[in-house]
Amino acid sequence: MVILVINAGSSSVKFTCFDMAAGNKVLASGLVERIGIEGTSMKFTNHKGDEVKGEVDVKNPRDAVKLISERLLDAKHGVLAKLDEIKAIGHRVVHGGEKIQDPIIVTSQVKDVIRECFSMSPLHNPHNLNGIEACEEVLPGVPNVGVFDTAFHATMPPKAFLYGLPYSFYTENSVRRYGFHGTSHAYVSKAAAALDGRPLQDLRIVTCHLGNGGSVAAVKGGKCQDTSMGLTPLEGLVMGTRSGDVDPAVVLYVMKLKGLSVEQTDNLLNKQSGILGLAGIGSSDLRDVEAAQDKGNEQCRQALEVYAYRVRKYIGAYAAALGGLDIVVFTAGVGENSATMRASVVAGLDDLGIKLDQAKNAVRSPEPRVVSADDSRVKIHVVPTNEELAIAEFTKVLVS
Ligand code: AMP
Repeated sequence: MVILVINAGSSSVKFTCFDMAAGNKVLASGLVERIGIEGTSMKFTNHKGDEVKGEVDVKNPRDAVKLISERLLDAKHGVLAKLDEIKAIGHRVVHGGEKIQDPIIVTSQVKDVIRECFSMSPLHNPHNLNGIEACEEVLPGVPNVGVFDTAFHATMPPKAFLYGLPYSFYTENSVRRYGFHGTSHAYVSKAAAALDGRPLQDLRIVTCHLGNGGSVAAVKGGKCQDTSMGLTPLEGLVMGTRSGDVDPAVVLYVMKLKGLSVEQTDNLLNKQSGILGLAGIGSSDLRDVEAAQDKGNEQCRQALEVYAYRVRKYIGAYAAALGGLDIVVFTAGVGENSATMRASVVAGLDDLGIKLDQAKNAVRSPEPRVVSADDSRVKIHVVPTNEELAIAEFTKVLVS
């Protein structure tokens, strides 16, 4: 069964084409980027390793999906004989509010819910919907499945998702914690249980998705109990450019102090803060900040310490929320690749039963692996996330 996975963003459409019957083989993947901007380009890689790159004439997501489908059929580098081999299309959608709690076949009602959530996810939901509608036009009759970043967190109890605000803000305005990166947290918690050899049902897991954006989730028996992102992805960890948790009064204080508008404040907290703001070297990429630290930059050292300490605090908080802990999982760009950051996060947690094996931690590998010491009560795993495969698997289940 061939499944196409689409992740449509503000100026890009990413795709992965899977043959699920051939052991979830990736037939082709790539992206069209800078859509609607000068220098629009496409990258297409097939399973033989052929890579086609170059400028393309694409003005909108519909053109992008059309071009992707043409490349999939291409006589030289294509991977399909006919487009009707594609049995379903899985879409990453960021926000499903309270109404969507599972992956779902897209209908006009589902599209209405995606629209209702535009105000809570203005940077993602409109583009995710454009991607779905482009597929409906270019590949008519093929079912579209929405896999929502918020869905995995739908099992959080009210004590975790309610804010200490007047209750009417929740009942009338849907202001609550939703959480994001759900597809990744779901995927890596399942993979960690498989690596551990114990049933997911029996495990208390804290998953740390540390990428450019970052979030931590508390997972018990495979169900999310709490997560660090909130109504929007701004809450929680110190991220690449997002502040994460701050005293809400700080926001009011700096708005008054600097005379900032709502838009400027939004930009400050989402785009100029986090590692970018703290490290002060003009980069939000942890690799650059780690390199500057290694050369003796004290401000970078401190920024990395703040980043690690915030993750450590959430692990401790979630161990308490779960009533104990069996596995800590690291995933995404930073979590999978930075041995130094992993070591920093769990430093000093031996007395809580969380003990790293420095040698295992230093090994680089694309495979899921255990990096805790043999006598560590809590296992520490590094599990590469694969949101595309998770979306394809959910899609397959729904259309089978
Ligand atoms: P993601 O959002 O999961 O794609 O993660 C992207 C981020 O991962 C980048 O911005 C980097 O900060 C970080 N990253 C990727 N590779 C490394 C590495 N080898 N060491 C440290 N950080 C890394």
